[in-house]
Amino acid sequence: MLEETGIPEAGKVEASLPSWERLEQGPVAIFECFTEIPCDPCYYSCPIEAIEEFHDINDLPELDFDRCTGCGQCIANCPGLAIFVLDYNYSKEEGVVRVPYEYTPLPEEGEIVQALNRAGEVVGEARVEKVQNAERQDRTAVVWLAVSKEQVLTVRNFKRMED
Ligand code: SF4
Ligand code: SF4
Repeated sequence: MLEETGIPEAGKVEASLPSWERLEQGPVAIFECFTEIPCDPCYYSCPIEAIEEFHDINDLPELDFDRCTGCGQCIANCPGLAIFVLDYNYSKEEGVVRVPYEYTPLPEEGEIVQALNRAGEVVGEARVEKVQNAERQDRTAVVWLAVSKEQVLTVRNFKRMED
């Protein structure tokens, strides 16, 4: 299915997630990287070596969720746009999903956007909480999407209302 549609199977997605206990503890990265390709910049981008060293450049990344601080430095370094940071307990009512974003114009902080799932389907609305676009990110912005807690595991992209 992934090879044909670009949409990962539910089982693969589930296997890539940390435990609920870890999700509730604070921000944590998830890697939705399911195809063995010669790629490893995520490993080199993590300042605390929370990603296991690759033995072969085709290895899939393996993240130690307990070491990961959710800093998000790896997000913009992934050419596959496959890394997200989830902050389930961002506030009492909302979680935040940090997503890589390479379209322009970038959204404004506070803007309401359409929240999309992995298949690109609209699943609700999200509020843009923050936009990170430092020079070192090389034009891969990281957009913080505030969503309902129920949608933290679902939302992986967004569409601006005026698009
Ligand atoms: S979010 Fe930060 S700590 Fe976690 S894997 Fe990415 S770079 Fe490492
Ligand atoms: S940089 Fe991204 S695409 Fe490449 S191995 Fe790491 S997670 Fe996968």
